[in-house]
Amino acid sequence: MSKKIQAVRGMNDILPAQSPVWQYLEGTVAELLGSYGYNEIRMPIVESTNLFKRSIGEVTDIVEKEMYTFDDRNGDSLTLRPEGTAGCVRACEEHGLLYNQTQRLWYTGPMFRHERPQKGRYRQFYQIGVETYGIASADIDAELILLTARLWQQLGLADSVTLQLNTLGSSEARAAYREALVAYLTEHKALLDEDSLRRLDSNPLRVLDSKNPDMQAMLAGAPSLFDYLDDDSREHFDKLRSILDAAGIAYEVNPRLVRGLDYYCKTVFEWVTDKLGAQGTVCAGGRYDGLVEQLGGKATPAVGFAMGVERLILLLESLECVPQAVYQTLDAYVCAVGDDTDQAALLLSDRLRNEQEWLRIQTHCGGGSFKSQMKKADKSGARFALLLGESEVAQQQVTIKDLRGELEQVQIAQQDAAAWLAQHIN
Ligand code: ATP
Ligand code: MG
Repeated sequence: MSKKIQAVRGMNDILPAQSPVWQYLEGTVAELLGSYGYNEIRMPIVESTNLFKRSIGEVTDIVEKEMYTFDDRNGDSLTLRPEGTAGCVRACEEHGLLYNQTQRLWYTGPMFRHERPQKGRYRQFYQIGVETYGIASADIDAELILLTARLWQQLGLADSVTLQLNTLGSSEARAAYREALVAYLTEHKALLDEDSLRRLDSNPLRVLDSKNPDMQAMLAGAPSLFDYLDDDSREHFDKLRSILDAAGIAYEVNPRLVRGLDYYCKTVFEWVTDKLGAQGTVCAGGRYDGLVEQLGGKATPAVGFAMGVERLILLLESLECVPQAVYQTLDAYVCAVGDDTDQAALLLSDRLRNEQEWLRIQTHCGGGSFKSQMKKADKSGARFALLLGESEVAQQQVTIKDLRGELEQVQIAQQDAAAWLAQHIN
């Protein structure tokens, strides 16, 4: 036998047993976003490599070492999207959705990053992203946060996540701060680890994000971005905070929250949990007022976030927050034993669906003995087995057996079966 081919490392199959949780999470989010007036957009998974280089930034971890980039047959450099924001801006700009308009959008789908696979970190992973365009004021930043807080409530996760908040200021403020930070870090160069030394030149703000315990004391003494903020950013942040305070949303201001992508300004936030180990950020986002212009459009204010679907599912499962009803079971499993009963079984199932469209019915296919079919009926999880033998078919009858409860077995006319099931299924 030849060697079996396996999935690519870090890219997971989502098996039938897991799908109900995925559908539950995706369905809950889609409904919530719809109720806030957000519309879904679907972008391609593959984009021109330059889109990501120009938006995420040449010296970010993603662009430097995590992208799946390849030349297609024409020699064009393409990349499997590592995130959705850049493609969303590209699509909106291309179709004229931004100029003189506001948009509230969401999308879901796989993203690709060549990272070291571990729990909560994969090479293909799913995000649900939300982006808004054309609104410069802090009320929309607050709406995004309120919306996520409502989602945690609905999912039963509210007590397990906390909100971290920061502001990065304008790009001018950040440039001035960057200078001060680089001066400070250069002074303490001996304490920097290898990653931070590399970032000192390319992306010094990211050094603040280091989790290295040996660097924490030194970082605590670093200059604070707050001292460099421009008035506009300061007011924006105060307004956001006052709305969150009024709405009763707890948050922690974390001046070292910087995010890994270049395009953020002003507001950045993360919802984090301590229940998933190192991969604790389940939702992250911020404002990116400069990106549309940077990608060739007219300056357009923008703010958004993305949730990590796998991490949220891990959290839902570890906290046992998945409602039992998510695992929908069959109402009936229709068995057919004897010559030509297979056709009668399919027609009976069809008739039942016509009469009670909500019924969840599986029809046994492929024949087999009564015993083996009953085994399958039991394994299917169905509440009732519907049995068709040759005599039932001849008399237009069906035998109904309760697989889970105490009801007596009955034989009734096929024309009464849908009503009987409706009456006995609560
Ligand atoms: P992290 O700090 O965990 O690497 P990030 O800053 O790279 O996250 P974003 O690019 O902002 O993350 O993506 C938003 C969310 O997508 C993250 O908060 C996380 O929940 C999820 N996510 C990011 N990368 C991965 C991955 N490789 N596998 C699974 N989920 C991921
Ligand atoms: Mg990352």
